[in-house]
Amino acid sequence: MKFNPHLAQIKTYEGGKPVELVAREYGIAPQDIIKLASNENPFGTSPKVIQAIQDHAKDVFMYPDDSMFEIKEALSSKYSVDPKNLIIGAGSDQVIFFAINAKAHPKMKILTAKTTFAMYDIYAKQVGATILKTPSHQHNLDEFLDIYRQNRDLDIIFLCLPNNPLGESLPKEEVYRFLDQIDSDTMVVVDGAYQDFAAYKDSAMKIDPTDLISRYPNTLYLGTFSKSYALGGLRIGYGIGSIEIIQNLYKLRPPFNVTSLSLVAACAALEDEEFVQKTMQNNFEQMKRYEDFARSHGIKFIDSYTNFITFLFDDQHDSNEISEILLKKGIIIRNLASYGVNGIRITIGTPEQNDRFFEECAKIV
Ligand SMILES: *Cc1c(COP(=O)(O)O)cnc(C)c1O
Repeated sequence: MKFNPHLAQIKTYEGGKPVELVAREYGIAPQDIIKLASNENPFGTSPKVIQAIQDHAKDVFMYPDDSMFEIKEALSSKYSVDPKNLIIGAGSDQVIFFAINAKAHPKMKILTAKTTFAMYDIYAKQVGATILKTPSHQHNLDEFLDIYRQNRDLDIIFLCLPNNPLGESLPKEEVYRFLDQIDSDTMVVVDGAYQDFAAYKDSAMKIDPTDLISRYPNTLYLGTFSKSYALGGLRIGYGIGSIEIIQNLYKLRPPFNVTSLSLVAACAALEDEEFVQKTMQNNFEQMKRYEDFARSHGIKFIDSYTNFITFLFDDQHDSNEISEILLKKGIIIRNLASYGVNGIRITIGTPEQNDRFFEECAKIV
């Protein structure tokens, strides 16, 4: 059978291993497994959000409100942005898909950092785009600019700030100086999936979406409810951009692309700021323990502005082996070998989960 020829270039996305699979494969009781692989919130979902979902379970026979009035109102007051500048997606993943398809043409070109979120590549390949990458794994805006100057016809530049899976971010001023030099025909996507973590750690890293899009109408900001708001399973995220960009993305949106319970949960999550604050506090307290652990075991790490930390190994250790040994002990982390990086990405867990990671990892390194 013949298929879209672009699909031959695509490797199917592999997420973190689910707990059930590890339990089956390694014969470990599910309650003894800890998953520090997908940057989920270790405290689970806020009880107030769970209550809101339960209260609305009886309404699921009806289609969702496709105008998404309430979540747009809530986001527009959070960011002081007009609802017309918002689009809601089934995860911000779906908004990345909209953005790439909205700019797609037979000679499409995109630019990303060498090691960054896998979905930019996957969606770009689906439309046959040429993908350019910077030489450095981490974001280096001088390198982005060099490539841009040689490729003025770039359609989209992706800045993942902070970057998944490495954790680095860039100060707002540096990002703005870069954007000053980019022509209005090139869309710049600023993926802010971890921006609230970055802003908590260092206000110089904070990029305000409203300020961003008003200064640079060629930018599209992405946010998600999957990380700090702990709603990964409900698939809801958003894009903030100029009316022109948003109207074009809307032409690609399937009807009712976000479920009614996802909309309810996201609204309730935005109201529980206390939960997010607790998440942030735990995250950065525990992050210090990971940094201390790495230093005391001679492991390099990347200064992280997210809810995960990346350890980089020297030639004496192999991330494939380390990941496998940890897995046998019931600890799921993300091996970065498929990114060409001899390292692992560990989602910051609860203090108890982290204790177990340190105990097992110390035996290996
Ligand atoms: C998690 C993540 C997203 C999107 O997550 P959704 O669950 O689709 O909202 C987007 N970008 C980055 C960098 C991420 O890590």
